[in-house]
This record gives sequence, C-alpha cells and structure tokens, in this order.
Amino acid sequence: MAEPIQIQPNIHCEPCKECGARPVIAQNRKGFMVTCPTSKKHYATAPGLVNIDEWNRFNKKSPLLTSNPYNSKAS
Ligand SMILES: [Zn+2]
Repeated sequence: MAEPIQIQPNIHCEPCKECGARPVIAQNRKGFMVTCPTSKKHYATAPGLVNIDEWNRFNKKSPLLTSNPYNSKAS
C-alpha cells in the first residue's frame, strides 16, 4: 500500500469531525480518496479525483456550533 499523501498546508481542509485530524490523500486502484489518517471508517471520499470539497462538506461543523477559533480568522 502506498503511503498517504499530506495535503499542502495552504489548502483549506476541515479537520475530521470524529477525531480532529487533518485529512490525507490515499490512493487505491480506483483513484484518490481524501480520508482521515486515523481511520478510513471516520470518512473517506469516493475514489477518483482528489475531492477535498466533498471532505469539507461532510466534516463541516454545524453553524450552530461555531466555537471553533479557526473559523474566525480574517482572510
Ligand atoms: Zn478521524
């Protein structure tokens, strides 16, 4: 199995909503997946092109729970 690929720090990724880890890119025969480095059971996007948007949509916290200081950073 190939080692997971780190996602560049300048790319916005939501942390895993199960464990808070930054996602990594894994590869299998079908293509690339954005997945949790702790466990693929937490979440992995469908194999194919790298789909960080899909990861972010799934792991985005509810707007009602905006206590995350990372979200208040001015851009
Ligand atoms: Zn996780």
